Amino acid sequence: MSRTFEEAREWVRLGTRLLAGAADADEAVLGAPSALPGWTRKHVVAHVAANADALGNLVHWAATGEPTPMYASPQERAAGIEKGAVLPAAELTAWLRDSARRLEAAMAALGADQWQAPVVTAQGRTVPATELPWMRSREVCVHAVDLGTGVSFADLPAGFLAALCADVVGRRAAGRGPALVLTATDADARWELPGTGEAVEVAGALHELTAYLTGRPGSPTTGDGRPAPALGPWL
Ligand code: ZN
Repeated sequence: MSRTFEEAREWVRLGTRLLAGAADADEAVLGAPSALPGWTRKHVVAHVAANADALGNLVHWAATGEPTPMYASPQERAAGIEKGAVLPAAELTAWLRDSARRLEAAMAALGADQWQAPVVTAQGRTVPATELPWMRSREVCVHAVDLGTGVSFADLPAGFLAALCADVVGRRAAGRGPALVLTATDADARWELPGTGEAVEVAGALHELTAYLTGRPGSPTTGDGRPAPALGPWL
């Protein structure tokens, strides 16, 4: 389930295309609820555009060594989403495209040493800049699905889905959820998620396991055909 740097760069480009296509819609469509509770599609688009700018700060940090956090504060992050969510559709989607283009150009300009530079994410994790494409690919790919305008997890590459499952299992292992053994029925992939109780076997297509693990609607089942146990939020 290991992913490469080059794969993550490619998934950023693919997810950016998918998201831009999914967000290319009129006021009525973008003003409607997304698949994320409490957010319109405009909130989702604004969040992803703001995320590109925020990750751009980390690229700047890696390029210069000057500490520039993703967001000045959680309040700034929330304010950016709220501000973007009331923009006219054309302005909002222009921000989405332009911010993605700026981030891609900034990443393309990083040299080998700069990619190794440590930066600190909004969650307070110190990572080498080489993790930034992976972080961005998660945002564009998962939120393209969250828009709820037609993109589904089944449209995403199997390699991305497997890497995302592995990532989420790693994070959830630190929580107190149910113990699970997850098996993909359409790929050579299996994860053991430590947790409370005797491990429950969960099986489904890779895209179903991804939806389930990331807390999105999905329908993997247990060994005896029952719905998989409920999980708490992912992030
Ligand atoms: Zn996000």
